[in-house]
Amino acid sequence: MTVKFRSQIQALTPYKPGKPIEDVKKEYGISKVFKMASNENPLGCSPLVKEAINKSLDYLNLYPDGNATKLKYAIATKLGIKPSQVQPSSGSDEMVDQIAKTFINEGDEVILADVTFPRYITTTTMMGGIPVVVPLKNFTYDLDAMKRSITDKTRLIWLCNPNNPTGTMFSEKALLDFLDSVPSHVIIVYDEAYNEYVTSPEYPHNSVSLLEKYPNIIILRTFSKIYGLAALRIGYTLASEHILSNIDKIRSPFNVNSLAQTAAVAALNDDEFLKDSYACNKEGKAYLCDSFDSMGITYAPSEANHIFFDSGKECTEVFTELQKRGVIVRPMYNTYIRVSIGTMEENKFFISQLKEVLELNVATA
Ligand SMILES: *Cc1c(COP(=O)(O)O)cnc(C)c1O
Repeated sequence: MTVKFRSQIQALTPYKPGKPIEDVKKEYGISKVFKMASNENPLGCSPLVKEAINKSLDYLNLYPDGNATKLKYAIATKLGIKPSQVQPSSGSDEMVDQIAKTFINEGDEVILADVTFPRYITTTTMMGGIPVVVPLKNFTYDLDAMKRSITDKTRLIWLCNPNNPTGTMFSEKALLDFLDSVPSHVIIVYDEAYNEYVTSPEYPHNSVSLLEKYPNIIILRTFSKIYGLAALRIGYTLASEHILSNIDKIRSPFNVNSLAQTAAVAALNDDEFLKDSYACNKEGKAYLCDSFDSMGITYAPSEANHIFFDSGKECTEVFTELQKRGVIVRPMYNTYIRVSIGTMEENKFFISQLKEVLELNVATA
């Protein structure tokens, strides 16, 4: 007799993260390695965070505040909403999981893009939902096609703006048109992991105001990207009290650890760090785009902290050759690669190594 797994589990494969810097150094015997693979903040995090964590190290024996009271209050105050409209989670990854568990029944249709954050389809499949996959158009969400995919069986729609991995965005007008066309019983998850990096004035910069008009929207944000706290696993969700109180039924009681809660509160108080991170990203993006232009490399227009480009060669081979030279990027599919925008030192090193690799005789996919 062998053990049996739920049928949905058979359709899944585990997430494969990139290699840690230390492993790459050892494997190739090199001392300088830059990780530009996971959209992390190359500047680290706010110094206020380290101070706050130091203070809370005396309380590691105590369970965290299961309601994350201080953090909810801090976020709500900053955004001008009620603490009951805010729910922190152990990364927004965890919230994607909780949302799937709360809303998706077996056989429900769930609409998502073909090239987007992989957890959407994994958690949908995990629950026995039927993924209705809508191709991107010009590397951007095709909201009209998503609208046309809605049926009586549609339960939930995953949106990511700006999108990971393409970095592209859709406008406030496009979002509002879309929201107006979706039946109010359909849940819309609106993932804004990169919103703080957006430079375009057409972006829905005030998405918080949507909570008022659309009781079916769930907004996801994270401290992993511009706040630089990916290691701590902390994100937050904005939605109606009605939605959040139901998601709360399946939440593990102490899902957000104390250090993460303390760190997030401190991070919210450092606007200077956010400004520096935004500026560093903007400068790095301009440099990388200029370099790509001069190399004849095409890429999707990015509003995020990463760029999706066409290397013209088999992406896994370019990835391996770059890794040997001390740059870790994320191969996507065919000839496409995602590179996270780094410090100028990292960006320059990446471009110099990419030039070298593209001159090699690597397969053109
Ligand atoms: C990075 C990312 C997240 C954040 O994940 P965490 O679990 O908060 O680290 C969420 N959504 C998208 C689209 C992302 O790229």
